[in-house]
Amino acid sequence: MRDVEDRLRAGGLRVTKPRLAVWEELVERPHADVEELATGVRRRIGAVSTQAIYDVVHALTDAGLLRRVEPAGSPARFEIETGDNHHHLVCRACAAIVDVPCAIGTAPCLEARSDEGYAIDEAEVTYWGLCASCRTTPPG
Ligand SMILES: [Zn+2]
Ligand SMILES: [Zn+2]
Repeated sequence: MRDVEDRLRAGGLRVTKPRLAVWEELVERPHADVEELATGVRRRIGAVSTQAIYDVVHALTDAGLLRRVEPAGSPARFEIETGDNHHHLVCRACAAIVDVPCAIGTAPCLEARSDEGYAIDEAEVTYWGLCASCRTTPPG
């Protein structure tokens, strides 16, 4: 826990119970959405409003401690920012998300054909498909 507290303070954030609980929850459940986080945090520290969870994830994301993952058609999910520029596999059927390492290892990992004068710092890559369990369980 020390480490988290140091990271919060380094990000200019006070150490609070909800912030620590969100962090602990994300250690166990990477890519959780706010509803999932709210459920987990309440199990840890009791009553916390969903709005409070939104406030926590926004503060931690703004401070660079969390990364927001927002696959099309899915609520925003959050994970601890590890700075490894990893990408995501998303299942079209059940929306399960897993990490895949960046092929190159540093952002941006794809060269744009033309930068049109932009200073490009990231290429967001999402791989879509069916996860192993959805492949073996035909829908409906
Ligand atoms: Zn699936
Ligand atoms: Zn991830």
